[in-house]
Amino acid sequence: MIRNIISVDVEEYFHPTELAKSVRQEQWDSLPSLVVPETKRVLEIFDRHQVKATFFVLGWVAERYPGLIGEIASRGHEIGCHSFLHRLVYDLTPAEFREDTRRAVQAIENACGITPKAYRAPSYSITNKSLWALEVLAECGFTHDSSIYPIEHDRYGIPGFGRHSRTLSTPSGPIMEVPIATVELSRKNIAPVGGGAYLRLLPYRYTAAGVRRINETDQQPACIYFHPWELDPDHPRFAQGFIARLRTYTGLRSMSRKIERLLGEFEFGPLGPACIG
Ligand SMILES: [Zn+2]
Repeated sequence: MIRNIISVDVEEYFHPTELAKSVRQEQWDSLPSLVVPETKRVLEIFDRHQVKATFFVLGWVAERYPGLIGEIASRGHEIGCHSFLHRLVYDLTPAEFREDTRRAVQAIENACGITPKAYRAPSYSITNKSLWALEVLAECGFTHDSSIYPIEHDRYGIPGFGRHSRTLSTPSGPIMEVPIATVELSRKNIAPVGGGAYLRLLPYRYTAAGVRRINETDQQPACIYFHPWELDPDHPRFAQGFIARLRTYTGLRSMSRKIERLLGEFEFGPLGPACIG
């Protein structure tokens, strides 16, 4: 049985890019924080299924809740990095990206004593415009990146990038890219399977069929992701506009059940070790 990859982006319900227009960064510290109880709920689910995952931690969260990051690590999960301020990589200069990444690594090291080796960009914002980021990540000591979604989307994605993990060389050294799970419907039509909004919006059987196809037809692991706030249907709602609300709030009530079904039906593990060999 192929071991798939399960990953969690550890951030508050007010961090997603869909909310950037409604919630300013200066407001973050004044909003109710839910990331600790929400992430603990995720840890309980993983314990119940005896699954280890990769948790991509936002530096902002690590700085405020070091105990939470220590607890994730002590339960045997891999600690990765999800930037410090959740800014889109393609909106930054390489120097700004380097500074944000170093600040996040420092906050995570301070919280749990672990130097993260795997990176996930906010909203999959490593695109053709910001491929330079991979070199900065290698320079900062990262060996794995999971920030490229090989699909067409209004905000992210590199269509045609390649759907499976591979090592890329950069002037600062190699880095293994682990794209989010997709299925190939035709040569030109790649459909997302990876989790998050797609897992919430579409029926469970769609995701399960996608994972099965990646495992059986492609003989590859599927990389799935979700956020702790997606398992909490009662978190405060700030997203404005039809599309933003649809992407952020649809399917929250059924999300825990879908995650538990996936963990029960397929084999899952963290990103780093899952990619070796
Ligand atoms: Zn995020």
